[in-house]
Amino acid sequence: MLIETYDLEVFTLPCEPGAERYAARARLTVDISEVLSYLNATLRGALYMPEAKALTWKKSGHNIAFHAYEIATSNVEDRDGAEKELKGLIDLVNRTWERRAEITPDTTTRQRPTPMAIYKLLPNTNCKGCGEPTCYSFALKLTAAQKKLADCPPLSEPQYAEKLSALQDIVIDAPAIG
Ligand code: SF4
Repeated sequence: MLIETYDLEVFTLPCEPGAERYAARARLTVDISEVLSYLNATLRGALYMPEAKALTWKKSGHNIAFHAYEIATSNVEDRDGAEKELKGLIDLVNRTWERRAEITPDTTTRQRPTPMAIYKLLPNTNCKGCGEPTCYSFALKLTAAQKKLADCPPLSEPQYAEKLSALQDIVIDAPAIG
């Protein structure tokens, strides 16, 4: 196991008035830089910065960061959720490290798709079926991993199959951390 011990801290961040958000941070006693290229190869939508020995990732609107001696998550709705997510991230690092022989490490830095690039591939009917007032606001939420492609029902219609396939190549549909 790569990470065996750590200090965990959960705290609040000043954010929008009345909307308290939580962050959690684990200070590590081991350097996890080597696992970052394996995480980069397996976490869809991750942004790896090799020079900084850092990798960032978004999951359900939460901002996650892996550094050599620290893992952090922020913008979480409640204290328990922040702690649970951070423990899940530590498990994820350990599982990825144990599976590293099966993974080809990826040291490239990918560009995140822009909301406009995503918008151009949506049906552009502003039908509101996703719960958003416009396709563009849905594109903004997709970019931030606050929505999933499956939240747009028209995309499953045959006439949008090509667009859906292009979207699946670029959009962050973050996997659950289990
Ligand atoms: S459901 Fe799809 S097509 Fe309809 S508004 Fe949302 S993103 Fe646009």
